[in-house]
Amino acid sequence: MDEKKEKKVAVWICKGCEIGEALDIEAIEKVVISECKVELCRRHSFLCGDEGVELIQKDVQEGVNTLVIAACSPRCNADTFTFDGCFTDRVNLREHVVWSHSPNDEDTQMLAEDYLRIGIARAKRTDIPEPVLEEVDKTILVVGGGQSGMTAALEATCAGSDVVLVEKEAQLGGWLKNFSRLFPKKPPYRDPEPVDLESRIKEIEENDKITVYLGAAIAKISGQPGQFDVSIKSNGSAIDFRVGAIVQATGWKPYDASKLGHLGYGSQNVITNVQMEEFLASGKINRPSDNKPAKRIAFVQCAGSRDQEHLPYCSAVCCRVTLKQAMLARELDGETQAYVLYKDIRTPGQYEDFYRRAQEDSEIFFTKGEVISVEETTGSNLIVNMEDTLIDKQIQVEADLVVLATGMVPIAADGEAIRQYQDAQAVIETGEEGAQLEAAKETVEKLKDHEGTDILHLTYRQGPDMPALKYGFPDSHFICFPYETRRTGIYAAGCVRAPNDMDACREDAQGATLKAIQCLDLASRGATVHPRWEDMTCPDFLLHRCTQCKRCTEECPFGSLDEDEKATPMPNPTRCRRCGICMGACPERIVSFNDYSVEIVGQMIKSIEVPDEFEEKPRLLGLLCENDAYPALDTAGLKRLQHSAFIRFIPIRCLGSVNIVWVADALSKGYDGILMVGCKSGDDYQCHFIRGSELMGTRGENIREKLKQLALEEERVRVEEISISEYGKLVEIINEFAEQIDEVGLNPFKD
Ligand code: SF4
Ligand code: SF4
Repeated sequence: MDEKKEKKVAVWICKGCEIGEALDIEAIEKVVISECKVELCRRHSFLCGDEGVELIQKDVQEGVNTLVIAACSPRCNADTFTFDGCFTDRVNLREHVVWSHSPNDEDTQMLAEDYLRIGIARAKRTDIPEPVLEEVDKTILVVGGGQSGMTAALEATCAGSDVVLVEKEAQLGGWLKNFSRLFPKKPPYRDPEPVDLESRIKEIEENDKITVYLGAAIAKISGQPGQFDVSIKSNGSAIDFRVGAIVQATGWKPYDASKLGHLGYGSQNVITNVQMEEFLASGKINRPSDNKPAKRIAFVQCAGSRDQEHLPYCSAVCCRVTLKQAMLARELDGETQAYVLYKDIRTPGQYEDFYRRAQEDSEIFFTKGEVISVEETTGSNLIVNMEDTLIDKQIQVEADLVVLATGMVPIAADGEAIRQYQDAQAVIETGEEGAQLEAAKETVEKLKDHEGTDILHLTYRQGPDMPALKYGFPDSHFICFPYETRRTGIYAAGCVRAPNDMDACREDAQGATLKAIQCLDLASRGATVHPRWEDMTCPDFLLHRCTQCKRCTEECPFGSLDEDEKATPMPNPTRCRRCGICMGACPERIVSFNDYSVEIVGQMIKSIEVPDEFEEKPRLLGLLCENDAYPALDTAGLKRLQHSAFIRFIPIRCLGSVNIVWVADALSKGYDGILMVGCKSGDDYQCHFIRGSELMGTRGENIREKLKQLALEEERVRVEEISISEYGKLVEIINEFAEQIDEVGLNPFKD
C-alpha cells in the first residue's frame, strides 16, 4: 500500500511519568524527523493535561489528520487522545519502555526509538475507518415465553423496542405454570412466596409493543444483526417478519432421571423434584404405589449432579427447591417428617436465612454424605443407604417417598447429536480403520458445526443453531461476556445460558436484552460488539483474487461468512466481530482492515533497525494479543517488572489473525526469534475470539515448515497462552525466551 499523500502527521512525545528522565528525547526526535520523515515532532512535559491536549487540538485544527502520541499505554487516556477527524496511534513509552527497563541505558533508548518507528509506520498507512452502514431493524425477537422470555420482552419495551415473543406452548409462563410457590425474593427470606403469573401475562397482553405468538415454532432465520428475516409457524399458519436481534430464552428440562436407577428411580415411590412440585400444587402428597399419605419423605440431593457420570455441574437451585418442598410438605401435613440427605447445602446470599428457617423445624432432618443406593422394602417402603460423613458411618433412612433433586439441562443442546459426534471423534482418535473410520469421519463432518438443536433454524454456513459448548450451554464466554453466543446479535438468557433460579432469570433476561439493544445501536453505526466494542473497521475482501479455498469461511468463529455456490466468501458485516481470523487464514493475503492488514503489520515489523551480527544485539519480535497479553504486559510495567530490552512488541487483534507471512518476513529480515502470546484456549478460559489461540496451535505446523525451509531452529518461534492476570508469568516467558535465543545464537539471515 502506498503512503497516503494527503496525510499530515504529527508526533507528540510526552515527557511525564518518568519518560523524560529515562530517555534522550532529542535523539528520539531526530529519528522521527530525519529518519521517519515526519515534519511535526513536538514534546510536552504533561501531555494528557489540559495544556497538552489543547496544543494537540491546535495542530488538528491546523490540518494535522494523523497523530502519533508517544506516551502511556493506549489503554490509558483513550478519550483524552481521541480527536475528531484524526487517526491516532499510541506508542507505549511508559509501561512497555521506561517502567520496565533501566533508565538512560543504550538498549532502552533503542527500544523507545524502535517503538516510534513502528508507530509511525502504522500511522502512515492507516486512515479513519469508513463504517459499513446497513439498514437496521430494531425489533427484538424473544424465543421462549417463560420467566426469562417474559422479562426480556417487557424490559425491551421499557427501553422503547418492539418485541415479537414466540412460545411453543399454548400459554405463556414456562415452568412458572407448574410451581405452587417460589423461593422468597425479599427480606426476611424465610417463607416461600406465591407465584403471580396471571398479572405478568396480563402485562404482556396489554403491552402494544409486544406481539405474542403461542403454539409457535421458528421455521427459519436468515440474515444478520439488524436484518434477521424470521419465518415462524403458529397454529398452522406461516408468518414472516424482520427483527434486528434475538434473545433465546428456551429454558431448561430436568435431567433424565431414568439414568438414576442406582438412586431407586423406577420404583413407584421414587419421584423427582419436578414431580414433587405437581404433588404440592395438587395439595396432597400421596404415595404413587398405594395412594396413602407419605409421612416420611427423603430428599436425595445432587441426584446425578456434581457427578462426572451424569451432570458434572451444580444446578444452583436444587438445594433451595428441596428446602421449599420440605417446608410446604410440612405445611400440608404437620405429621410429615422430611429427611434432607445432602453432599453440601448451597444457599447463596440471603438464602442462608431460608436454610435457617428450615433448620428451625425439628421435623426437617439434615445429614451430610453420599447416598449409595435406594432399595425397596416391604410394603413399597424405601431404604436409603448412605455413607454419612458427619458421623463417619453408613446409615439407613426408611422413607415412604424418595424425592430425587435432579438438576437442570439447557434446552439448547441436542444431546443425541453431541453424543454421535463425540463417539465418531473417539473412533477417529483410537485409530480405527476402514469403513468404521470413513463412517466416523462422515459423522464428524456432518455434525461438526451442527451440535445445537434446531430451535432457531439459522441459515448460517456454520449450522442451524447455537453451538453447544461446555455441558451443552450456548453462552460463548461466561467469564468476560455473559449472554454472548457465538452468533452476533443472538443472546442467551436464563436457564439456557446457565442454571438459574427465577429471580436470577429475571436479571439474566435484563442483561441479555441490554446486549441485544446495544448490538442494534452499534450495528446502526457500523460498529461492532464485544470485545472490539465500537470498532468501525470491517474486513475488506479483494474477491477478484480469491481462490475459493474456503479457509476464511471455515475458520471464522462467528459464522460471519457465508459462501456462494463457487465457495467465494459472502461477508455479513454486522455478524462480524473484527477479530481478523479470516485475515490470518487467507493464503492469498486479500483480507484487510483499514487499520490492520498483512501489509500494515508487515511494514511495522520491517520498520525497525535490526542490528547487524557485529553489534551482537539480538532483536526479537513479540506479537501480543491485545485482549489479555498486552494488558498483562502493561500491568507488569505498572509493577516495574523488568523484561528484555531486545524484544519489540506489536499488538495484534488475536493470535488467530497472525498471517504466517509475518513470521517469514521477520525471520528473513534478521529477527532472531518471534514470541507470540495469546489468550488461553479451552472452555474454562476462552480466547476472546473463541478459536484464535487454538488456530495458532494448528497453524504451528506451517511455521515449523517455514523454519525448515529457512534452515532455522524450531526454538526461534514460540507460542504462549496467558490470562490477563498472569503478568508475572508473562515477564518470565519473555526473559526466558530472550535467554533461549541467546543460546541458539543470532539469525544467520542478518546479512
Ligand atoms: S474478522 Fe473475524 S468475525 Fe469478521 S469475518 Fe473475519 S473471521 Fe469472521
Ligand atoms: S481465505 Fe482468502 S482465498 Fe481463501 S476463500 Fe477466503 S478470501 Fe478467498
